[in-house]
Amino acid sequence: MDAHVAQTPVAAEAARRRTFAIIAHPDAGKTTLTEKLLLKGGAIQLAGAVRAKGNARRTRSDWMKIEQDRGISVATSVMTFERGGLVFNLLDTPGHEDFSEDTYRTLTAVDAAVMVLDAAKGIESQTRKLFEVCRLRDIPIITFVNKMDREARDPFELIDEIEKTLALDAAPVAWPVGRAAQFAGTWDLLERRFLPVDADDGAAIRLAGLDDPRLEALVGAERAAALREEAELAEAGLNAFDLEAFREGHLTPVFFGSALRDFGVGHLLDGLARYAPPPGPRAGDPREVQPGEDKLTGFVFKVQANMDPNHRDRVAFLRLCSGKLTKGMRLKQVRTGKQVPVNAPLFFFAKDRQVAEEAWPGDVVGVANHGTLRIGDTLTEGEELNFRGVPSFAPEILRHVQLEDPMLAKKLKTALDQLAEEGVVQLFRPLDGSLPVVGVVGQLQLDVLQSRLKVEYGVPARFQDTMWSMMRWVTGGKPELERFAEANRRDAGEDHDGELVAFFGSDWRRKRAEEEWPALRFHAVREQH
Ligand code: GDP
Repeated sequence: MDAHVAQTPVAAEAARRRTFAIIAHPDAGKTTLTEKLLLKGGAIQLAGAVRAKGNARRTRSDWMKIEQDRGISVATSVMTFERGGLVFNLLDTPGHEDFSEDTYRTLTAVDAAVMVLDAAKGIESQTRKLFEVCRLRDIPIITFVNKMDREARDPFELIDEIEKTLALDAAPVAWPVGRAAQFAGTWDLLERRFLPVDADDGAAIRLAGLDDPRLEALVGAERAAALREEAELAEAGLNAFDLEAFREGHLTPVFFGSALRDFGVGHLLDGLARYAPPPGPRAGDPREVQPGEDKLTGFVFKVQANMDPNHRDRVAFLRLCSGKLTKGMRLKQVRTGKQVPVNAPLFFFAKDRQVAEEAWPGDVVGVANHGTLRIGDTLTEGEELNFRGVPSFAPEILRHVQLEDPMLAKKLKTALDQLAEEGVVQLFRPLDGSLPVVGVVGQLQLDVLQSRLKVEYGVPARFQDTMWSMMRWVTGGKPELERFAEANRRDAGEDHDGELVAFFGSDWRRKRAEEEWPALRFHAVREQH
């Protein structure tokens, strides 16, 4: 970056932001780790809220109550804390037990992710799914192997599993000393220091190296011998940490610890501070935006109904990519050309819940509006510019929506349109005029949809199975698309924006369609705008 640009206040504020998410399979320890990270940043008040959420989501009905009482989920969507002069924005990825599109989209608004693994289980199904989303944008990933205080798998085996199942190089930066009940701490492979478990953050013990005789005194002869052998093997046989490869999304540094015992969390946070990138340039049409630019740009990655379900108020989550946001600004919604007033932006500063007066690149603010702002919208100070990359993912569950009272058809249409814009579901209209189809990636999303249709719109509805188990967006030349639509009227439709989609009953049928229509392309992901 040009030295002159680096000195502007915007560039300086951007450079001290670390905006990240935690990805994990349920039960790996995401909530516990979040709480410990917030405690380290002094956001103690919020830590209680996180715990409350952690307990509450154990049952589905409680989860919905929490979700309906949107105050909590709005507040915990973005958690901000400061440490060592840096501002950390932790974006919550909801849909814990079940997947929702919000989870995916949130990952388009972060610059790095922490992948939490259960040391006894390694890579699990949802870890892999979330990882694939990170890979779409080459998001740098830091791995935290959690629950080292319990029976764990061999660290070499875990590292091998990360590399093989994710096709991602893994470089240990900490190495566990002792296992399970004998777990004594970790050896910092880069800094050559021993981090004893249950000691304060600052209590690292620097040694001359692994040959330092003090090691025996610290961890006992047996564990010292095992560590020497393993660390030597790791250094000789495993990848070494490489900042550039990490930042490009090709290598993950691996930390070991225990969130529950608050061990290794400080080390992880140091790693985030040191290695995770500040906001970088962002691809847009017609140009790339640098975070240090003076003029504000940002995009909406999530929309949530506001606290009061009787009002159609919504909060749009805006990730800033450049410039400075202040209260009372008017921003241009590029899609419509409209001016959007930002009178009372919600700033999420967890530390003392004070309303901040300004936000910078990497920050996320909530903008209240009446449904004007949509997911994928770019906001600027006037420039015609669109950010790319807030994707829609092909839903895995497709259902017809059936009304209990046919008189409410018009109301249902309005409700579905609004909920689709909010990103609660994807909405498709079959070409043959049959009942509208909703698509979701997780069952829980259907439950939320049903509840909101009834409570907020007064439209009780049921879901009916379809013959389909997958869909794809179809692109290609216009005549060929028309031929495809004509030949597949019963298995095709339009999405909310009028794009052609194809439904399939099985993966085999999808493959056949791809063979039969070589001039067309079938996409599992669609970028908005
Ligand atoms: P989440 O579903 O990923 O948010 O996981 P939670 O943070 O709720 O943790 C799931 C369970 O694992 C809870 O019972 C935690 O107390 C427990 N747990 C989390 N971290 C650790 C750890 O480091 N060691 C042990 N032994 N248990 C842990």
